[in-house]
Amino acid sequence: MHELGITRNIVAIVTEHAGDRRVKRVALEIGKLSAVMPDAVRFCFDVCSKDTPLEDAELEILETPGRGCCLECGAEIALDQPFGRCECGSARIECISGKELRIKEMEVY
Ligand SMILES: [Zn+2]
Repeated sequence: MHELGITRNIVAIVTEHAGDRRVKRVALEIGKLSAVMPDAVRFCFDVCSKDTPLEDAELEILETPGRGCCLECGAEIALDQPFGRCECGSARIECISGKELRIKEMEVY
């Protein structure tokens, strides 16, 4: 489960920014194509945040949809996986969003 390492990183970054304040809320943006499972992150967050300023913080996860651009005709299409097929028949799709994983906001007391 690679979410454990990812969540540890997130907790470390937020802890650094929080200084000696307690964290009230953290909002993460997780792309649908990032291969990161929000439920796993939630579970890991409970474990990783123990004894840190993030303990009992509210975790908000915003899932961003996957979007791709067809390299043949330039059409934009919705993607559920990091690959797909355009209406024009082309499978040359470039991902333009949905792979992001970032800390969007954090709130401290
Ligand atoms: Zn196309």
